[in-house]
Amino acid sequence: MSAPLDLHALLRKKRDGGALSAAESARFLRAAADGSATDAQCAAMLASVFHRGMTGPELVGWTRGMVATGVKLDLRALDAPVVDKHSTGGIGDKASLPLAPALAALGCVVPMVSGRGLGHTGGTLDKLEAIPGFKTAGDPDRVLEVLMRAGCAMVAQSAAIVPADRRLYALRDEAELVEALPLVASSIVSKKLAEGLDALVLDVKYGSGAFFPDPAQGLELARTMVALARDAGVKCTALLTAMGRPLGHTIGHSLEVQEALDCLAGAGPADLRELVVRLGAELLVHVERARDLDEGARLLAGVLDDGRAREVFERMVAAQGGDVRQLDGGLPSTDDVEVLEAPAAGYLAWFDVRELGLAVRALGGGRHAAGDSIDPAVGLDVLVSEGAAVEAGEPLVALHHRAGRGLAEARARVLAALSLGPAVDPAPLVLDRV
Ligand code: URA
Repeated sequence: MSAPLDLHALLRKKRDGGALSAAESARFLRAAADGSATDAQCAAMLASVFHRGMTGPELVGWTRGMVATGVKLDLRALDAPVVDKHSTGGIGDKASLPLAPALAALGCVVPMVSGRGLGHTGGTLDKLEAIPGFKTAGDPDRVLEVLMRAGCAMVAQSAAIVPADRRLYALRDEAELVEALPLVASSIVSKKLAEGLDALVLDVKYGSGAFFPDPAQGLELARTMVALARDAGVKCTALLTAMGRPLGHTIGHSLEVQEALDCLAGAGPADLRELVVRLGAELLVHVERARDLDEGARLLAGVLDDGRAREVFERMVAAQGGDVRQLDGGLPSTDDVEVLEAPAAGYLAWFDVRELGLAVRALGGGRHAAGDSIDPAVGLDVLVSEGAAVEAGEPLVALHHRAGRGLAEARARVLAALSLGPAVDPAPLVLDRV
């Protein structure tokens, strides 16, 4: 019989800079998952990890401990390569929505366990819930059923799948304990290891809208996560991608689903399509569905253009309770739209795009506390591309609001996010590959 769990001893050890053994991490995380640790105790442990960091072996033990709080999906019966992608989070990042069905259209199985909005970033699950009826509950039997019908599923952490992350993720969001390498790495990799993957691609963001803006820190995070995944037997590549500007043109839930649908129609913003194709190509090569990255990219572009990825997306939406008819013009929207005009002439550059995420939150499209509801209709539509020359008074950003709620704050944040000055070269979409 194991000794009774002394949570206080574990909290003191981590608070004072000690490294938890794998057994200690596992015991703490079980207590977090089953509710025997209080919110205060969980937040205290998260704060200690945030400030003290973790050793390499400690992070391995902690990540495995998170996976072990739930089940690991066994999808061998589906007899197809099991793959997934995860992003470290950003502004306007809706790449998962077209990518998962595109991969499924090419014969892969994609059991995507995603997150909700975290800090200033939007969450895939919140975006999907803009589709009336769409359910994100992550019950393993339901996931299997959806995968059998559609080939891809997009669900939340649950009582059965990484319950420790379900609890800690929400607490980190509420307590401003997000931007710590061990917390981000374990949160992401634990979800992916619970999926029973053959291959994983990680989209690690750099730039002002990323949790780690400095590319050197992004690379360290990428290397850490790739090592954790490979150590667990999962083929894994990470791309370091631009988040010093929004991805695509829209930020906000319904607006982003609409932009993802444009991508699934072979159209939409070029940066979104390129990212989807490049991330997916890495996976197709890993599971030998493509000889090289060029062939992978061609295959993915093909299923976006010929409608097969859209068909899979519709099957997934239907299998998860969503009303497919609403995808054509029926997503929640608002008639209250204000167009912000350029206060001066110049070339558009993004100064701090984190402000755009906070602007959407001010409009009602984000949470301050775990239980807050989100208005899917509000958001931003950026009308000018980075680097473009604009005249004073030219339309820059459309703010979709609800009867003026949060509009003054959002307007100020949008203006703080951008600059109009001399011409600058946009940062590369893909800066590095691990
Ligand atoms: N995505 C996650 O799942 N977790 C994080 O901590 C950050 C991004």
